[in-house]
Amino acid sequence: MITKFVGAHTSASGGVFNAVKHAEQIGAKAFALFTKNQKRWDAKPLDTITIDKFQKALHASGILPKHVLPHDSYLINLGNPEDDKRLKSMEAFLDEVQRCELLGLDKLNFHPGSHLKQISEDECLDKIADAMNRTLEKTKGVSLVLENTAGQGSNLGWKFEHLAYIIDKVEDKSRVGVCIDTCHMFTAGYDIRTKEAYDASWAEFEKIIGFKYLMGMHINDSKPDLGSHVDRHHSLGLGKIGLDAFRFIMNDKRMDDIPLILETIDETIWKEEIELLYSFVD
Ligand SMILES: [Zn+2]
Ligand SMILES: [Zn+2]
Repeated sequence: MITKFVGAHTSASGGVFNAVKHAEQIGAKAFALFTKNQKRWDAKPLDTITIDKFQKALHASGILPKHVLPHDSYLINLGNPEDDKRLKSMEAFLDEVQRCELLGLDKLNFHPGSHLKQISEDECLDKIADAMNRTLEKTKGVSLVLENTAGQGSNLGWKFEHLAYIIDKVEDKSRVGVCIDTCHMFTAGYDIRTKEAYDASWAEFEKIIGFKYLMGMHINDSKPDLGSHVDRHHSLGLGKIGLDAFRFIMNDKRMDDIPLILETIDETIWKEEIELLYSFVD
């Protein structure tokens, strides 16, 4: 029986239903997508024909909605120190969650936010949690999935403590989770290259956040070194992490039944990378 659900962040260009088609082409059992252009603020609303086509394609693919991990726009910063900009982000974020609702998906993956060197870390984390609470009040059935970051620039969420701090302030704990990106984790300073390091980093995760909040992972190797705080993904086995870490993940029951999503840089080898990951299962 398959317990690992591996896929990639596939292109939804031309319509969200195309992300399903691309996932099928690479033999994925999970996938991520942008439900709108990730580099723009505005988007035309999802129409019923598009929603219907997406749901039919998803059903036909055999991929379950819980194994789909939509990612929000890169422009959104729920911790923006400037009120008008944060408001704009909150409006866009609400729209993103509502798009997931319409598509019948139960998660939205996002980067926590940045303090832009204008406010303290705690103030920024408070703003993020507040924005999440307001969004949760206005929506149903979609969990907000915080992604750990590399800690580049003033991005928060690279320390497990940042994510735990936000979760602590979210009122509805049943609709908050985390997505751990292996490249970000590594460049944030959490080593996973050897079994000892892997076990120690995840023990820290369990202690500070808890596996009950782990709702997805991004499976990426890393161009930069451990603790560099630089966010540059690489293909599996070609970066500084190496293949062993991915072998550990594929045999770790704590990563069962959640979307495991490749965001590696060469999409032409995603099919091979997915096959490679499955070949690691003992
Ligand atoms: Zn991300
Ligand atoms: Zn990621």
